[in-house]
Amino acid sequence: MIYADNAATTKTCPAAQRAMLDAMERSWANPSSLHSPGQQAKEALQTARETVARAIGAQPREVYFTSGGSEADNQAIISAAKLGARKGKKHLVTTAIEHHAVLHTMDQLSKEGFEVTLLPVDASGIVKAEDVAAAIREDTALVSVMFANNEIGTIQPVAEIGALCREKGVVFHTDAVQAAGHLPIDVDAQNIDMLSLSGHKFHGPRGVGALYVRRGAPLLTLIHGGAQERGLRAGTEDLPAILGMAAALDDSCTHMAENAAYVSKLRDALIDKLSAIPHAALNGDRERRLPGNVSFCFEGIEGESLLLLLDDKGVAASSGSACTSGSLDPSHVLLAIGRPHEVAHGSLRLTLDHENTMEEVDAIAAATIEVVDYLREMSPVWKALQRGERDYVIQ
Ligand SMILES: *Cc1c(COP(=O)(O)O)cnc(C)c1O
Repeated sequence: MIYADNAATTKTCPAAQRAMLDAMERSWANPSSLHSPGQQAKEALQTARETVARAIGAQPREVYFTSGGSEADNQAIISAAKLGARKGKKHLVTTAIEHHAVLHTMDQLSKEGFEVTLLPVDASGIVKAEDVAAAIREDTALVSVMFANNEIGTIQPVAEIGALCREKGVVFHTDAVQAAGHLPIDVDAQNIDMLSLSGHKFHGPRGVGALYVRRGAPLLTLIHGGAQERGLRAGTEDLPAILGMAAALDDSCTHMAENAAYVSKLRDALIDKLSAIPHAALNGDRERRLPGNVSFCFEGIEGESLLLLLDDKGVAASSGSACTSGSLDPSHVLLAIGRPHEVAHGSLRLTLDHENTMEEVDAIAAATIEVVDYLREMSPVWKALQRGERDYVIQ
């Protein structure tokens, strides 16, 4: 099987596996216990916090461990909103292409009386910094713009947005779940106040993540019950997961430049090969995208069938977000870049990493070309397009 769904999750790397096993064997005590095994676990926890902090240019005391990216997003947004509201600020700014962990949190807050501005993106899937600037008001409590998109891979102008939020005194949060370990992050240089990351998107374990909160930025407790994480996130720490995540992040950051160079070559080769399919369009900007992201829409076919047939041919792919697959609604991200419903349904996301090879890229391309042809031959929509009874949306 060729695994090309690294945006959904990644395989735990050997460094993470070793760290986790080691933690289970040696640092399994409760870091809150006063005895020496507890103190040893506490030290290991602190070392992991330092590692995660270093990876994003933060101070260890600004890093809070969570159960993953979703919790980090929830805590960041709910904190900034509710603490903003105490000062009369009840306006939130985000984009139409965020992950549902952000969008659904925003929906919930809007039900609770907050006003949410959803910024559009351009056809290449990038939000304009000037749109963010124009949306900020006196009563804006938070701007939340993702670092890189999980479906179409586009990299957002985070440093520019950070700078203008800083200038206007608005808290800036970024969902960096797809970026951490893959793109350089420096919370100071990029003026980021809050940042979410998740272990399983950079070859660490699942169910663990981190929230960075700049000193002095707003933070509220979502999980009550103990003094862990400076009293802001209760629950006995999952030390094997936290140490595994730290090891994976350290490993990813060490090899970031070489991996990005290698994986983006695979990506570009795959994009070139799939671009040869008639009436196919790349989703998202060709250059400003994650090293491993390839996302296409094919006219006249249906994404689900494409995935199942690719699976039969030994290629594990996705139609977009793992969270929306299974639902009949087309991806909100593809709609936001202007793809009409019928075309958004014919999407394919292939996300590569450093374990993929050029031979696999050739095999993925050959399988995709074959399956798209096969499905089109059976598709009444495709036949109508070919007979000229309908107009192609993708030329
Ligand atoms: C995967 C993902 C999340 C959710 O992270 P979990 O750790 O799975 O909860 C949030 N945002 C983005 C952009 C993601 O890709």
